Amino acid sequence: MLILTCPYCGLNAEETELHPGGEAHLTRIGPAGSDDAFEDYMFARRNPKGVHLERWRHAYGCGKWFLAARDTVTMQVYGTYFAQSRTPPQDIVDRIRKVHPDWQPQESDPA
Ligand SMILES: [Zn+2]
Repeated sequence: MLILTCPYCGLNAEETELHPGGEAHLTRIGPAGSDDAFEDYMFARRNPKGVHLERWRHAYGCGKWFLAARDTVTMQVYGTYFAQSRTPPQDIVDRIRKVHPDWQPQESDPA
């Protein structure tokens, strides 16, 4: 079972206490964006085999959204961090790079 530590309340929450929110770090496309950029924002999501940065909500706890870095193959959790973060904290990046030395956070801006 997936267990994530909520960075806000500090609880170790089991998967059944959480609500998934999909890919993290998406950039919202405003009215000035192209139709193609808006379509990518609405529908195009990465589904990587390996490291994935995700949004989760502590639905049956404090109710707040947070971000998690985990491996979709091994289910290893590299860490969780605050939803307002634009990139994963360096300690999480270091943990990821111990397993995947060439890993780089990807830009999610579709345009
Ligand atoms: Zn919480």
